[in-house]
Amino acid sequence: MSDSSRDLSAIQFRSEISNRNSRIVRNSSKRRRNNTYAFSNRNKNAHSGIFVGSLQAADGLPVLPVCFQETVRHPRKSVRIQREMAVSPQTLGMQSVAGQDFVDSVNPAIGEVVARIPATPLSAIPAIFETAHAAQKAWVGQPLKERCAMLRKLRDVIFEHRDDIANIVTRETGKPRAEAILAEVLLALDTADFLARQAPRWLRLERVPHHNIALKARSGWLEFDPQGVVAIISPWNFPFAIPMTELIPAVVAGNAVLLKPSELTPACGALVGELIHRAGFPNGLVQILQGGGELGAAIIEAGPAKVFFTGSVATGRRIAEACAGKLIPSVLELGGKDAMIVLADADLDVTSSAAVWGGFTNCGQACLSVERIYVEQPIAEKFTQLCVEKTKKLRLGSPADPEADIGPMIRESQLKKVEQQLRDAEQHGARILTGGHRRSDLGPNFLEPTVVVQVDHSMQLMRDETFGPVLAIRSVASADEAAALANDSPFGLSASIWTRNARRGRELASRIRAGSVMINDVASYYGISEAPHGGSGFSGWGRTHSRLGLLEMVQVKYVDADRLPLYAKPWWYGYSEGFAAATGSVVELMFAPSWKRRLQAMLGKRGARGLISRRRRI
Ligand code: NAD
Repeated sequence: MSDSSRDLSAIQFRSEISNRNSRIVRNSSKRRRNNTYAFSNRNKNAHSGIFVGSLQAADGLPVLPVCFQETVRHPRKSVRIQREMAVSPQTLGMQSVAGQDFVDSVNPAIGEVVARIPATPLSAIPAIFETAHAAQKAWVGQPLKERCAMLRKLRDVIFEHRDDIANIVTRETGKPRAEAILAEVLLALDTADFLARQAPRWLRLERVPHHNIALKARSGWLEFDPQGVVAIISPWNFPFAIPMTELIPAVVAGNAVLLKPSELTPACGALVGELIHRAGFPNGLVQILQGGGELGAAIIEAGPAKVFFTGSVATGRRIAEACAGKLIPSVLELGGKDAMIVLADADLDVTSSAAVWGGFTNCGQACLSVERIYVEQPIAEKFTQLCVEKTKKLRLGSPADPEADIGPMIRESQLKKVEQQLRDAEQHGARILTGGHRRSDLGPNFLEPTVVVQVDHSMQLMRDETFGPVLAIRSVASADEAAALANDSPFGLSASIWTRNARRGRELASRIRAGSVMINDVASYYGISEAPHGGSGFSGWGRTHSRLGLLEMVQVKYVDADRLPLYAKPWWYGYSEGFAAATGSVVELMFAPSWKRRLQAMLGKRGARGLISRRRRI
């Protein structure tokens, strides 16, 4: 598509949807092209102003601004909006068309639509696959060195736009800016950097030495071929890091990617596409398909080479069924119910801080988390008291407030699920020590961080994924009981163990059924590019990140070459009684318990050597 033919008319901004609460009071732009506006917001509860959309001309290209930074937070004062980053319609995955559907980008802190992204029509899927296949064929022909060089360019583009990324993620998810930087930007940067260095080593031919002496005349090796066109279907809770850490290994391994971001975070999805475009990846190699579950299902129906899904157990089950019907391999990164085991010798101050951060980071909406705490009885009371004290100190607020520790939940529906679990727990005898209330004064989706005690496994709170800001603490008699309770779950994603005794920590870790166990830390292994991530049971299968994650992106091919091409193999046709006897001698030669018998098997009348010197062959 030429730049001049880009049709931007279908893009709608909030001003065209409903912008009744805001009005432009001042154009504070020094230079017109900066397009900086000021807003007065009549809604006293709202902490932000919204960009009134117009199209920009930057570097001669028409571009579509998707998201803008608010720099003033006071609700009664005007709100200054600065242009952050523009997304071209090309990287929105398609040209807009009349009568187009849109996916709304909502700011969960205020519950208002801030941008509308064109949805991908189902009818476009065949053409999208065709383009992807063509792009993949050309891409895999590029030397691996050049594919790695593209990763470095992507790393540099992400670095250059790190503030924009943090702002857009924060705006669309409600997570604090510090979390957007650490858990999203940093992770994507490190993955691109890490794989640009490691991929040449991990994707080159790998020798397969043969231990069997009878096979020493041949050599074998592994080749790592790309899967082809792979689908990545991602969730909203880490809308930048998750697609990026899957897309980067996919492309370096030679695949094309169809990425369907969550319909709750379409601007982050568009942003991924924009960065890929700016890094200079070939057109069609990574395409962003915007829409909901029906679009994800249609992508699978169209037959990608492999599906990388991250999301809920319920959707994971549907995807597994759809993939099974078409024999499409999949990696499923699903929910978790991560246990934290606190042994009596743990440092209580550090461990309670870890519990509070692990349980409430991303407003508790993290797959790797602290969902259940089992604490040894002698320290249970003190530990709980510290958790409550620290929880009370946390600041709940809009992510526009740099001092807010916890932002809003993504949607009210998610908040209601958490409230329902809390009600169920209370009905079964649990006690809420702090939190548990909505904070409607802050916005529609704010829930106070909550600490609950007297919980047991009859409660939904201890069985189902909560995915909200709740710490459920249970006192246990021993480490054995804690391990048994931690394993009493259909999930198997991650867990953490807290102790000053390194040996006890290691022993206990090896008894926990989970894809990962951290000793004296929680969740942070997700940021270690060398560490594989994934679970078992309801938490899914397959791995992302690390060498194992890269290997999920390839078809492993074994190639074997015989160094004696002129020699007919002794096991080929021309069978006879003598030949059958000689084959028996071969087995004896290799596995008889004594050297004497092995020698006899070699040299005897009907020994193994008869196999080599046999005359009757076809
Ligand atoms: P979700 O299952 O509702 O949606 C995930 C994605 O699947 C979205 O893009 C959605 O549009 C798509 N989808 C929905 N129905 C589909 C269908 N029938 N076919 C194909 N695609 C379909 O999950 P969510 O609410 O976005 O994310 C939260 C969940 O994700 C939590 O359970 C969390 O634990 C899990 N999660 C897991 C990990 C992990 O690494 N294990 C990481 C992050 C989140």
